[in-house]
Amino acid sequence: MEKLIEGNLDYLAADDVYAQVRHDTSVNGQRPYAVVVTCSDSRVPPEHIFSAGLGELFVVRTAGNVVGDYERGTVEYAVGHLGAKLVLVMGHSHCGAVGAALELRSGESHAHAPKSLGAIVSEIAEAIKHEDTEAGAVQANVRNSIARLRESEELREVRIVGAIYDIETGKVKILDT
Ligand SMILES: [Zn+2]
Repeated sequence: MEKLIEGNLDYLAADDVYAQVRHDTSVNGQRPYAVVVTCSDSRVPPEHIFSAGLGELFVVRTAGNVVGDYERGTVEYAVGHLGAKLVLVMGHSHCGAVGAALELRSGESHAHAPKSLGAIVSEIAEAIKHEDTEAGAVQANVRNSIARLRESEELREVRIVGAIYDIETGKVKILDT
């Protein structure tokens, strides 16, 4: 907790630019240029990865970047009400959720997974059932999340792009969709 409080004090002291942008966006509202749907993994922070500032990215993060009703509704809001023109669904290397789904498929027990976490792993396991490699599974999982978003009438027209982030090199690879 102390670390969080100190971090906020550092943020407040950091730069007048932040204060100016906070003021502008609180008065004029937000106009994020893209939506990023990605994993909650602490090594995958979109604002760092894309050198984005306050008000620029509308971010949805879940373990394994899975998309259900709440996530899809969040993206609908960003596209329909805030005018975001692009949705990027980004998986990443060494994803723990995808790894757990691969293990589940290979028969290793996840009997002790809590119910809600188990639902995430099951969703991914179904999406990657034809994949044998981690890289293939991460891609298939991204494509599944894109398909989940496309279930929404509101998201039929918006541009949705898949990507994979390499947690070691920092490089984002755009997938052919
Ligand atoms: Zn992950």
